[in-house]
Amino acid sequence: MNWLSLLSRADGFDSAHLSQPAKDAIGNALEGKALTRESAFPLIECGSDSLIPLCQAASKLRDDGKGRTITYSPKVFLPLTRLCRDACGYCTFRLAPAAAKPLFMTLEEVVAVAREGKRAGCTEALFTLGERPEQRYP
Ligand code: SF4
Repeated sequence: MNWLSLLSRADGFDSAHLSQPAKDAIGNALEGKALTRESAFPLIECGSDSLIPLCQAASKLRDDGKGRTITYSPKVFLPLTRLCRDACGYCTFRLAPAAAKPLFMTLEEVVAVAREGKRAGCTEALFTLGERPEQRYP
């Protein structure tokens, strides 16, 4: 059974807007063949009308490879500072100094959050900060 037959069973699957190179790339991936840089380019070029079949193919790959179990580790989030030397366009973490008041968590705040997390059953602490903020804000 080829990938198109497999995916055709999915509700709403419609490969009409996928280019042939994109179909070939998806077909190869679903058959377990590694994508090359060249074979992946047609996937990048897929338009919004190709999003649903692309997501359906990705879902099938995920389900086949990893199953549908979602895991998580309970942890506390400790943003020691939200300053960062970089300004990545997609970032929702970084703040400019004027907006990041106070600039740093205090030791007392860190301990309080850690204790609250422990009380809530957390077993890990995720300490975060931006990329080398001291280089931009010495
Ligand atoms: S925190 Fe990370 S993602 Fe955000 S601007 Fe800095 S380097 Fe980029």
